[in-house]
Parts: sequence; structure tokens; C-alpha cells
Amino acid sequence: MKSQKTLNTSLGIISGGQLGKMLSIAAQNWNVNTAILDPEESCPAAQSCDELYIGDYKDYDNVFAFGKSIEIIILEIEHVNVDALYALQAAGKRIYPSPQILQMVQDKGLQKQFLTKHDFKTSDFHLYETSEEIKEACSNGTINIPFVQKTRTMGYDGMGVKIVRSESDLESLLAAPSVVEDLVDIDKELAVIVARNASGHLKCFPVVEMTFIEGANLVDQLICPADISSDIAKHAETLASNIANTSNLEGILAVEMFLTKSGEILVNEIAPRPHNSGHHTIEACITSQYEQLLRAAFNLPLGSTDVKIPAVMINILGEDGYVGQPNYEGLEESMTLEGVSFHIYGKQETRPKRKMGHATIVNKDKSKAIEIANTLKSTLKVTA
Ligand code: ADP
Repeated sequence: MKSQKTLNTSLGIISGGQLGKMLSIAAQNWNVNTAILDPEESCPAAQSCDELYIGDYKDYDNVFAFGKSIEIIILEIEHVNVDALYALQAAGKRIYPSPQILQMVQDKGLQKQFLTKHDFKTSDFHLYETSEEIKEACSNGTINIPFVQKTRTMGYDGMGVKIVRSESDLESLLAAPSVVEDLVDIDKELAVIVARNASGHLKCFPVVEMTFIEGANLVDQLICPADISSDIAKHAETLASNIANTSNLEGILAVEMFLTKSGEILVNEIAPRPHNSGHHTIEACITSQYEQLLRAAFNLPLGSTDVKIPAVMINILGEDGYVGQPNYEGLEESMTLEGVSFHIYGKQETRPKRKMGHATIVNKDKSKAIEIANTLKSTLKVTA
């Protein structure tokens, strides 16, 4: 016999990647019944949910069939069939984020239009249907090199982002409807995660800063709290809160920002789901982003987001040149490093730069945590 569950509400999570895994672990901590929709039986969240539904989250019928017997649905990924979510919403299901917000963020063009319409500063942009139109705009001076091309839909982890620095880069433009925006002179990349519940209560996690792997657009290192002035931190948190309020967010929202060399903050993009930039909250904050999302979705009081201890988060990526069953070389030696927590996602196959896990390094002294993170990066390798 199944044990009595804590909250008399069923929770469905779309889909079962690492974010779904960490979210379902948080739900398990509360003894909440969790079902997951994912195309793969061996997805990272398979072991940490009560029921796994195999299906394609881009498919209307699969999403609707999954959601129809569930009360609360949380998305950990943005590329979900939005029509099915609208139908589920009409059938009375509570969905986080709402299909309205999801539809807006699924298209980077609509997202930029939303931000500018509400006076949230972003880099200046134009929308184009084809790469030919972009070349034409370059030759008639509507846009100038350097610029950044981003496909309007289906981009993630820097896929679908092309930085054009010279005329010759125009030959490898991405062939899809795109946002073309000014290249920002970035001092730091910052992120704020904000949670908001149905009662309108809202809480931000402290601002983090991120460095990226050159050419891969993947987070190399995340540092919490960010090394910025309290004025900038306050500005970034206010910005994130205002975006959450303006979009009528219920759930959680990651706001990625650029701090420019001239000290301005521009919004890069928003993601209404648990986010890579909040992994460290499990160890570093009083409430994790996953528990906070559950609190928001169940319309419960939000937890404290205070930092217990400074932290650095690094992604554990598949080494270049290896494809196959993962081998975590140097894991045992890495365990000797102080203050490191490992999260191995359990993906069946490693590929170059695939996110196979992450590690959070906590230390009262942030610079020491950075040092340990660097040692860890050279000790732990995912080969096959
Ligand atoms: P994704 O949605 O794939 O994460 P992003 O829009 O976040 O794509 O872009 C990935 C990375 O590319 C950013 O983190 C940043 O380093 C760089 N980038 C994106 N837009 C700009 C810009 N306008 N100017 C300078 N760098 C940019």
C-alpha cells in the first residue's frame, strides 16, 4: 500500500532531465506524489519520481494525456507543446509557468518585444526571417558588425546563438528566423532567480555571476554571491522582481543579465523554470530553488533565500573526444577536496560538453572556493 501523501495534490513534471530530477527530489522530501513525462525510460529523474510516463513533450496528445489526471504541472524545460498546455489550463489544471508566459519565452523575438514594451532594458534588436535579409540589412547599414544573431525558437545552452564579428562570419549565419541584437561590451554576466506565488508574494535569490566557456556558451563557473556593489545587486533584484510582477509570473523565473562595462544592466533573457544558475542553492541557501518552486506552485509561503555560505558551482561536462557510457575519472580523488558536493545526473551516454553533472563548492572564503573549483576542474573528467 502506498503511504498517505503530505499534500493532497498530484504533481506532474515535464520533463525528466537534471532539473526535473532535482525538483522531484525536493518533492520527495515533502512526500509529494510525483509523475514525470519524458521520452526516455532512463532519463535522470526516472529514479526519483513515483511514476514515469514515456512520451514526447513536444506532442499535443502525449502532453494532454499526461496532464489530464494531474492537478499541478511544473515545467523544467521550455520546448513543450503549448497548445496542449492551453487545453489543460482550460480544463482547470494549474501550470507553472503558465502557457501564456511559456509561449512568450519560447520565441526570443516575442521575449524581446515583451521586455522593451515594458521598458526593461535589453540590447537593441531587429527581427529577420532569413539570413539573406540579415546580409541585406548589413549592406544597407540597418545593422552593423559586430552583432549577435539568435534563432527565435529552439535555442538552448548557446545553440542557436552566433556572434558575428567580421564580414566573413556572415557566410555562416544561422538559417532561421532570428533576433539580431547589438553585441554588448560585457563586464559580468549576472543572474537572479525570483519566485512568486499565486498570492503575489515574491522573493529573489541573491545575485550570482557566471563565466562561460569560450565558444561553447556553457557556464564554466558560477559564483554566489556575485562580486558586485550593493547598488548593482539591488538594481538587479528589483529588475527581476519587476519582470516577475509584470509578466504575472507564478512559479520561478531566472533572469539573465549583462552588467556592461559602463555599469548599465541589460536583460539578456528570461527562463521561467528552475535554472542552471540556481543549482548552488541546494547547498548555499536556506531554501533551494527547487523547494522554492514547489512552495510557489502550491501557493505556500516562500522560504528564506539567504546565503548560508558562499559557493561556486561548476558543470561537470563530457570531455571532448568521448562518446559512450560515462566514466567519471578522478571522482575518488575529487572527494578529498574540501566542501564539494557532487550531483551526477545519471545520463546513460556522455558526449562532448554534455552536462553530465555539477559540483557545488562551499567555503566561508569565496576565493578559496574558487581555488578548489579550479583544482576540481582539472581533477575530474568524464570520459567513456
Ligand atoms: P541561450 O538561450 O542559448 O542560453 P543566450 O542568449 O543566453 O543563449 O546567449 C548565450 C551567451 O552568448 C550569453 O551567455 C553571452 O555570453 C553571449 N551573448 C548573448 N547575447 C549577447 C550579446 N548581445 N552581446 C554579447 N554577448 C552575448
